[in-house]
Amino acid sequence: MSAREKIAYIKGLLDAGTPRDDFEMALYGAIVEALDAVVDDMDRQDESLVALTEELMDLSDYCDGLGEDLDAIEEGWLGEQVLDQEDVLVAEGDEPEGVDLYRPILCPYCSTMFYYRPDLCDENDTVQCPNCRRTFAPSEVELEEE
Ligand SMILES: [Zn+2]
Repeated sequence: MSAREKIAYIKGLLDAGTPRDDFEMALYGAIVEALDAVVDDMDRQDESLVALTEELMDLSDYCDGLGEDLDAIEEGWLGEQVLDQEDVLVAEGDEPEGVDLYRPILCPYCSTMFYYRPDLCDENDTVQCPNCRRTFAPSEVELEEE
């Protein structure tokens, strides 16, 4: 039995029952009206849920279409880039290693920050500041860690 049918059943019981005093009749009437209102609200929510579901389906279709368009664009792009891609991968592979070789250092004379390669320096070797051209040993200054 649906909520609406149950309410109709209650209304039937009230109609068929022995007459009660005014207060009870008003109370039961108010309860039935409240139940009616609840069912009406639920119907309206069902309707908006259906509308919302339809909108979501439309949105989903639209996204599917977008995804297909992107795939098509990507395929076209990859088709053109296949030859270049090997070069790109080599370049990307080289970069982190090259970056790791260099360490930042702060010139103690002019405070210029520059990069040098510790692997090319012995403990007593000096580096030259590119700004003030003075030389100093990297071990004399604190390394400027990021
Ligand atoms: Zn300097």
